[in-house]
Amino acid sequence: MSEPRALVRDQPAPVLSEALLRRFDAPGPRYTSYPTADRFVEAYDAEDLCQALSQRAEGSVAGAASPLSLYVHIPFCDSVCYYCACNKVITRHHERAAEYLDALEREIGLVVDRLRSGQAVSQLHFGGGSPTFLSDAELERLVLALRRAFQIDEHSEMSIEIDPRTVTPQRLAHCRALGFNRISFGVQDFDPQVQLAVHRVQPFESVRELMLAARELGFKSINADLIYGLPRQTPLSFARTVQQIGELRPDRIALYAYAHLPQRFKPQRRIHAEELPSAAQRVAMLGDAIAGFLGRGYHYIGMDHFALPDDALAVAKRQGRLHRNFQGYSTQPDCDLIGLGVSSIGKVGANYYQNAKTLDEYYDALRQGQLPVQRGIALTRDDVLRRAVIMALMCQGRVEFESIELAHLVRMHDYFAREFEALQPMIEAGLVQLEPGAIQVTATGWYVVRAVAMVFDRWLQSDKLRERFSRII
Ligand code: SF4
Repeated sequence: MSEPRALVRDQPAPVLSEALLRRFDAPGPRYTSYPTADRFVEAYDAEDLCQALSQRAEGSVAGAASPLSLYVHIPFCDSVCYYCACNKVITRHHERAAEYLDALEREIGLVVDRLRSGQAVSQLHFGGGSPTFLSDAELERLVLALRRAFQIDEHSEMSIEIDPRTVTPQRLAHCRALGFNRISFGVQDFDPQVQLAVHRVQPFESVRELMLAARELGFKSINADLIYGLPRQTPLSFARTVQQIGELRPDRIALYAYAHLPQRFKPQRRIHAEELPSAAQRVAMLGDAIAGFLGRGYHYIGMDHFALPDDALAVAKRQGRLHRNFQGYSTQPDCDLIGLGVSSIGKVGANYYQNAKTLDEYYDALRQGQLPVQRGIALTRDDVLRRAVIMALMCQGRVEFESIELAHLVRMHDYFAREFEALQPMIEAGLVQLEPGAIQVTATGWYVVRAVAMVFDRWLQSDKLRERFSRII
């Protein structure tokens, strides 16, 4: 018997089968883009991006361009968290920020030269690193530079990632005055032993004070990031963190699985592998956390994300308007994304690009008057089609054949014959239902939705390549 659609769409069953998760726990990407960033090639360069920007500019003159999304990467952090897999620069020299802002302003200028100034922005996000490494005056300088170049108004979503160790309620008030209306706190875990083991000590009381202040300041949406699978975590200790987060009641919660890949991420070598929880403990933590959030009235949005029922993300999920971009789930329609700053990723039309990953290369390109693009990819027709299928799975848990067939002029069963065959074990395991005109991810299947999406990923053919990604749980 098929499950009621409302249940499938909104709430997964709060029961996890360990055997099922183990069986489908293949390493896989998070699909904030398709193709994923590791497929970008260096043959794609600044010239290619210039062309894509110019084409967009022509479209905007003809009234065909939708609003933009902007992402600004601030790479600096005062100290290193041992679990970190981000592109960051650890330094206590805050004067380095000034040189970086000079470079960002040059980059903004080069983008606007191609794009024309005054383009409407629906979404602006400051990420890092730690955006709050910048002083209040530096944050203001950057926001003003962006406001001069783009049209950012009270309807634009402006969000910023906050490292609670670097801000005070007064600093939050300053962010609010600059126009930020959404805020995300990196919490990870409240247990003091876990915080010591990952070199990120931030007491519950200080995070509570900041979240209360953010609410009073009128931030529209407050997000908290948590991580399970960290050293010294136990199901019992993590249940306490889940309870404490429940008390603070952020509008959104992102619950990430820690991926221990010390060969790729140097800071992780300082984590003692013997202190990591076992696979069974990880499954227990995930299951308990999901049950805990659902029990406190949160809605399950999709991979790793929960939101209160009246939060825009939960509303968008119910209405089938959820999208996915490099920042995760979004309520904003799929729009072009301009990535600014070292290592930032952007998307313009059917192109993805990524900026230089080191500050030296980033500064060098800008000194030469060039966009600091290091690699990218121009999507083929096949990529665009598969992206539509993968994003429908990741966002709605459902692929309607008719909409894909009409938009891409293919017959699903012919084009994806091999993929339908590969779905069979998931259908038999009750993760996916094949309806006459649709693929539907079941309530249980939502937990492994990226494994379902991976079936449609042409680039993921060899198991060897898959090992580069983290595991799902
Ligand atoms: S986790 Fe965030 S704050 Fe910690 S080192 Fe990485 S980027 Fe910096």
